[in-house]
Amino acid sequence: MKWLKQLQSLHTKLVIVYVLLIIIGMQIIGSYFTNKLEEELTSTFKSNIQQYAKQIEINIEKTYDKKKQGNTQKAVQNLLSEYANRQEIEEIRFVNNDQIIMATSKQATRSLIGQKTNDNSVQKSLSIGEANSHTVLKDYGNGKKRVWIYNLPVKTSNNKTIGDIYIEADINSVYNQLSDINRIFIVGTGISLLITVILGFFIARTITKPITDMRNQTSEMSKGNYTQRVKIYGNDEIGELALAFNNLSKRVQEAQANTESEKRRLDSVITHMSDGIIATDRRGRVRIVNEMALTMMGTIKEEIVGKHMLKLLKLEDDFSLDEIQENNDSFLLDINETEGIIARVNFSTIVQETGFVTGYIAVLHDVTEQQQVERERREFVANVSHELRTPLTSMNSYIEALEEGAWKDESLAPKFLSVTREETVRMIRLVNDLLQLSKMDNESEQITKEIVDFNRFINKIIDRHEMSAKDTTFVREMPEQAIFTEIDPDKMTQVFDNVITNAMKYSRGDKRVEFHVKQNALYNRMTIRVKDNGIGIPINKVEKIFDRFYRVDKARTRKMGGTGLGLAISKEIVEAHNGRIWANSVEGQGTSIFITLPIEIIEDGDWDAE
Ligand code: ADP
Repeated sequence: MKWLKQLQSLHTKLVIVYVLLIIIGMQIIGSYFTNKLEEELTSTFKSNIQQYAKQIEINIEKTYDKKKQGNTQKAVQNLLSEYANRQEIEEIRFVNNDQIIMATSKQATRSLIGQKTNDNSVQKSLSIGEANSHTVLKDYGNGKKRVWIYNLPVKTSNNKTIGDIYIEADINSVYNQLSDINRIFIVGTGISLLITVILGFFIARTITKPITDMRNQTSEMSKGNYTQRVKIYGNDEIGELALAFNNLSKRVQEAQANTESEKRRLDSVITHMSDGIIATDRRGRVRIVNEMALTMMGTIKEEIVGKHMLKLLKLEDDFSLDEIQENNDSFLLDINETEGIIARVNFSTIVQETGFVTGYIAVLHDVTEQQQVERERREFVANVSHELRTPLTSMNSYIEALEEGAWKDESLAPKFLSVTREETVRMIRLVNDLLQLSKMDNESEQITKEIVDFNRFINKIIDRHEMSAKDTTFVREMPEQAIFTEIDPDKMTQVFDNVITNAMKYSRGDKRVEFHVKQNALYNRMTIRVKDNGIGIPINKVEKIFDRFYRVDKARTRKMGGTGLGLAISKEIVEAHNGRIWANSVEGQGTSIFITLPIEIIEDGDWDAE
């Protein structure tokens, strides 16, 4: 098959065209030339023979005139013999008026002298009195020969035909000459063909080489290699084509590079976007998906590429791809139920100028936090309303009772009034707590830090509680040396008051509150643990006690005057000090509240200087 392809190549075709042109040219020249040559040679040959015949005729006439039938036969015989050794002449005969052969130049046919000839051409010449000629093939014993037969009637001066000169001339020599020339011609043609093929091969190469180069370059380009250039061999059209081709591939290379860098830029934008992106083909099957989308959906690329986008987002029952085009709304979707991630999804279509849709894009915006904040805000408002309504309702009913006459009852009225006052105090406390939280949320509450000796600071607080709470044992376990920390003493006092109050509030019987203070100089931090032997907190609720309004046992704690905001405020304060607060508890055995705070390493000298 390779040779067939080679045969069809431009190169071979060009060589074939050259060869054909040469053959046709040679043919035309050859046939014209040999025709002309043949004509020329035969006419020279014939005119030579005719000339001989004429000479013989004149001589025979003379002989007849002189001898008057005497010994003419001998004279004519002698005359003919003179011509016998001419190369082209085969035989000359003289035939008289009665068609009797009178003389012949040829030794072999001497025996025919005196016999009558019945040759048609001789008869014709004698009867018409005009010369004639024709060519025949004749066998002289050594193969057939082409001979030209010429008859010339011999006439006396008074125009009387006395005989006929019959000449057989060997015209083969002319044809031999012609075939020699033909042979030379054929050999010449062969040589020139050979030279043409070789030359044609090289000439064709100069044409086809740049074309082959360009073809190879095109196939390289189709593989994505634009760096190569074709060689320019000359200034002709092919050279210009090669130049244009090089320019073209340079342009394509530049365009390709542009597209590539554009694509890379887009890729990096998509990859690093904080929103999730899912791009599909026109049938809605996922083609591109970025890291963020995968993280949000909690899946891996292999899981979703090729799948239907609407199915992945569980929207296939709600609407179709066509509806995306018309609908520009966004949706809130639960895209990751296990991790509770909620995303706002916006769809858009990729439309070509012709209006043909080539794909769809879904942008996923994580709104989980937003939703949570929103939910917390709603819960907070509901909680506040609820917390305020309870004391207000009870106050309302007591005041109603007083109004309806209870004020006159000396035993009831003071009791009712004191309850009302308690509720008012509770409300004031609640409102104060809320106010403080709100201030901390808005960061409008200033914390004024100062360096304090923590042991002294905490001992003062414990002392105060020890004085008022006689039923509680306070244990202090603290390092000997002073620990310095930079805190807002008022705010931190509020934190410890709350923790200590809780420890006593949620304990029964022999109350015991332990204080463990440890410093970790390596991390520049200290840990305070406030441990009680109280009722404890169920394990699944320990984390929640720092939430606003959270109370483990709602009815009971409210009775104890708790707002459920104490630990939430404490957490805000501790975190504002770059600290951390958490709890550890065993139900029925007791609770530990841990607080870590940063400490200051102060040389004694420094402290003195202040
Ligand atoms: P409250 O004003 O109700 O005490 P807090 O925010 O201080 O509000 O505490 C939240 C809840 O955590 C309390 O209602 C109580 O149920 C629980 N709690 C806090 N400290 C303790 C503790 N030491 N022992 C047991 N439960 C506690």
